[in-house]
Amino acid sequence: MKKLPRVLIVEDEAAIAELIAVNLRHNGFAPVWASDGEAAQRELDAVLPDVILLDWMLPGQSGVALAKRWRADARTKGVPILMLTARSDEPDKVAGLDAGADDYITKPFSTQELLARMRAVLRRRAPEQVADSVTMGELVLDGATHRVSYQGQSLKLGPTEFKLLHYLMKHAERVHSRGQLLDKVWGDHVFIEERTVDVHVKRLRESLGDAGAMVETVRGAGYRLTTQSVRA
Ligand code: CA
Repeated sequence: MKKLPRVLIVEDEAAIAELIAVNLRHNGFAPVWASDGEAAQRELDAVLPDVILLDWMLPGQSGVALAKRWRADARTKGVPILMLTARSDEPDKVAGLDAGADDYITKPFSTQELLARMRAVLRRRAPEQVADSVTMGELVLDGATHRVSYQGQSLKLGPTEFKLLHYLMKHAERVHSRGQLLDKVWGDHVFIEERTVDVHVKRLRESLGDAGAMVETVRGAGYRLTTQSVRA
């Protein structure tokens, strides 16, 4: 029998957790519920889930703090995190993505939307292999060690920015629309807003420091990675 995808639901409100769990069970997932960060950590230590649904507002450690912690941990850093948030303002969404969440969904959400996003996050796990290395001018990305450096200086990139940079470097000097980037880097873009691409491009530029200027916005078309613009 095929193993059902295991979903760790970290949510302090029992009624919401139960509703999500019932819907997931009906749709071929194996949900596990943890009501706070400590319980979630115990679950993670025992069995690694395929995806984590993480509530923003939790007693004790917040969802954002937990996402940061799990992203920094070698054991959990590869597990996709979908943040559940009741807040809809943009700065909070960005903070969630900054913490390492793969996506966010704003409460209240429909079951269909949740399922679509969960499937997207799961499919997105390995859309493109990033085991090889790419060099572009003085920018070097090593797929095997997940390291990026510019002019010999090591740079720190989040998992999505790393995949995004890898794709842009492999297809340099070409303009990619937001939709194309969602397809190639995220693997699926059902229900994912194109603005998500902008958020990650902004983060990528910031992470790249001096090399950030290589990521060009092409008005009305999308983004391009180029060596042309770094010539001082
Ligand atoms: Ca909550």
